[in-house]
Amino acid sequence: MRKSEKIITRVSIVLVFLSIFAAAFVDGRAIVAGEFVLIATFGALELSDYLHKRKEKKMKWKRKPKGKSQRTNRAKLIAKLDKVFSLYIRLRDSENGVFRCISCGKYKRFEQADCGHYVNRQHMSLRYSEMNCNAQCRHCNRFLEGNIQGYRRGLIAKYGEPQVELLEAMQNKTCKISEFELQEMIKYYQMKVNELKN
Ligand SMILES: [Zn+2]
Repeated sequence: MRKSEKIITRVSIVLVFLSIFAAAFVDGRAIVAGEFVLIATFGALELSDYLHKRKEKKMKWKRKPKGKSQRTNRAKLIAKLDKVFSLYIRLRDSENGVFRCISCGKYKRFEQADCGHYVNRQHMSLRYSEMNCNAQCRHCNRFLEGNIQGYRRGLIAKYGEPQVELLEAMQNKTCKISEFELQEMIKYYQMKVNELKN
């Protein structure tokens, strides 16, 4: 029951009882009828509230388990893949513990590397794109809002302008990655990380 429906129900209950009260008053038994009307009105309001809450509780209970467990599992897989994918990108772009930031071009130590997304990672179609993700220094990634102009120049130098334009064109593609795909990608990047570490 929506809030507006609840208010309408309450008002109608009160009106019904007020009309009974008015009729009783004309009859000359106002006091007894008045008490009866008040008790009945509050009783009815409480009952309607109780029924409303019970209905809401039931609906919540029905919705919760399925949706919540699915979301949690999927969110866990995404978090796990983010972690291993980020490590892969940082290792891929480093040599002897040093990397070159895609945006500012400075050489820094591996510990200073973030996995920076050119197209924001909210776009699932490019969240795990090896071209869209590159080692970026913490300063550019966290304090310069990704240093996007520098990032674009760095990408063009690394992959060429046509590839970068293709990447930009793909950012609005809708993409739903299944849990199975997420699991397979976790395994794949875990393997790649192990190869690079050895
Ligand atoms: Zn940088």
